[in-house]
Amino acid sequence: MIIHCRRCGQPLGEPAGTGRPAAYCSVGCRRATEYEIRRTATAAEHAEAEHTRWRQAAAGLGPLAAAPPGHADREAAWWAAEVSRLDGKLRDLLDDRPTDRPLNSFQHSPPRTCNGPRRSPDLLWTTPQ
Ligand SMILES: [Zn+2]
Repeated sequence: MIIHCRRCGQPLGEPAGTGRPAAYCSVGCRRATEYEIRRTATAAEHAEAEHTRWRQAAAGLGPLAAAPPGHADREAAWWAAEVSRLDGKLRDLLDDRPTDRPLNSFQHSPPRTCNGPRRSPDLLWTTPQ
């Protein structure tokens, strides 16, 4: 089995007989992955906080409870999906076993199903800053 750099996909050759096989082709690729892990962890923390805020709003609590009907539920569902997407990405990034496939499995967030309230004069609702 030819293993590949988990970051850039460059072939690293056959695993050596002894010791832990390399997962990255270079210090640069390892460091880039460490940086992406930190960014992804920060994004996951933000997504968890948003999920909590919108779950509370859906239960009628907090400043976002004034959102139009259904909005908080849709936001909570979107953020829940975002939390699990980012958790999956973190697991991929933190798993540094050698791989026979390049780890170029970047996944975008799912599309937003709700972009906030429609603008209308009798529905003045804004996200608090
Ligand atoms: Zn590499």
